[in-house]
Amino acid sequence: DHASKSYKRVVVKLSGEALQGPSTHGLDAGTLARIAKDLAAASEAGHEVAVVVGGGNFFRGIKGADSGIERARADSIGMLATVMNGLALEQAIEMQGRQARCLSAVPMPALCESFSRRAALHHLAKGRVVIAAGGTGNPFFTTDTGAVLRAAELSADAVLKATQVDGVYTADPKRDPDARRYERLTHDEAIAQNLAVMDTAAFALARENKIPIIVFSIAEAGAIASVLSGGGRSTLVAP
Ligand code: UDP
Repeated sequence: DHASKSYKRVVVKLSGEALQGPSTHGLDAGTLARIAKDLAAASEAGHEVAVVVGGGNFFRGIKGADSGIERARADSIGMLATVMNGLALEQAIEMQGRQARCLSAVPMPALCESFSRRAALHHLAKGRVVIAAGGTGNPFFTTDTGAVLRAAELSADAVLKATQVDGVYTADPKRDPDARRYERLTHDEAIAQNLAVMDTAAFALARENKIPIIVFSIAEAGAIASVLSGGGRSTLVAP
């Protein structure tokens, strides 16, 4: 499978939905603990792990805009949602015995440190799991783009994009029994096919900076470790 040795420093993209578990919104304690355990294990195994968390389990800007909130303001609410997840994840990782630091792209010094490349690299070097919250800090972006941005500025070896399915398929595998999983795709192909797994801005930034994206399922315990060890089912998006 995909060579794992090169994945020394990674950015794991977790959607808000990944943290809600069986609930319809918000945070599920059991799911949070399971994912935190996975992240702590990867860090303990010597990988430098940064996490970019989404906020869709609480709020999405586009949906807020649909219900009449101006888009930039709705996106502010969305960014705040990601910080809620970041703080929860920080504690969950520390409960697994591993240090973690939530860094927000939108400064909120009473709650957590602000994101800076320097601070993030410092914490990674200390073996701490870095949680980059607040996305890019700007409206009209997503946390997928935030994940690729952080990967670029931290010179990460890959973005590990956690989803509910074990890779990118030719069609929705839950609806189409003939759907086939791609083993590998180029960024160009991902963009040309307008794949729903990540937005075009995120793929384009990854293409420009030659950042591999590994799409895998977070549904099972140990998923992150298995991707990092080159096992498990996934799709590699790479030049
Ligand atoms: N958001 C934003 N700028 C960013 C990242 C996120 O404004 O750089 C807002 C946006 O409103 C988005 C929300 O935060 O809908 C939550 O992020 P996202 O939808 O990416 O979360 P996920 O789908 O991964 O849970």
